[in-house]
Amino acid sequence: MTKKLTQTQAIRAFCTECIYDGIGGSGNALTQITNCTSKECPLYEWRPLNKDAKEVEKQRKIAAMTPEELKDYEEKCEIARVRFNKLRAEGKMAH
Ligand code: SF4
Repeated sequence: MTKKLTQTQAIRAFCTECIYDGIGGSGNALTQITNCTSKECPLYEWRPLNKDAKEVEKQRKIAAMTPEELKDYEEKCEIARVRFNKLRAEGKMAH
């Protein structure tokens, strides 16, 4: 029986199957998926991105936020940071 994938894993597997060229392609699977240019693809906005592209996307979203949205975003980031630090301190999450 095939292991059931999460939504994120399924999208990554689909994109890899779609675009990854391990012989003639440039970079690893994640880089090739990040560099996908098929904006008309329904998965385009949901495709996994490499670390650099994620940071660019994050900064683009932050720049488009209203002051209220930015305040809400920063409060949520702080809540997440505190929770992650607690999990790390309890040894339940990798550093
Ligand atoms: S987003 Fe790009 S890599 Fe992913 S399925 Fe669509 S066309 Fe393929």
